[in-house]
Amino acid sequence: MNQAGRDLLRAAWLRGQPQAFGHLRVDDALCAYGVLGVVTIEDFASIEQRYQIDTLAPCPLCGARSNGVAMRLLAHLNDHHELDFAKIAELYP
Ligand SMILES: [Zn+2]
Repeated sequence: MNQAGRDLLRAAWLRGQPQAFGHLRVDDALCAYGVLGVVTIEDFASIEQRYQIDTLAPCPLCGARSNGVAMRLLAHLNDHHELDFAKIAELYP
């Protein structure tokens, strides 16, 4: 992930952005993809390109590997490990 992506996640954490798990948005809460600007599933590819998100990298915590469809690493860290935005910004490859 590039610096711009990490900066967005850290800024969300600093302002106390409520975090959603398992959904892009729940009321005011957003998942990490939502913080980066994904609103619909059509946005994933362009957002991943903009912030140079390597969705195929193995998970730095458990070693799980994405198949690119069922598991995206960013969603895995947000939903499965429930890391906060600052920790995701720190650990994302
Ligand atoms: Zn993991």
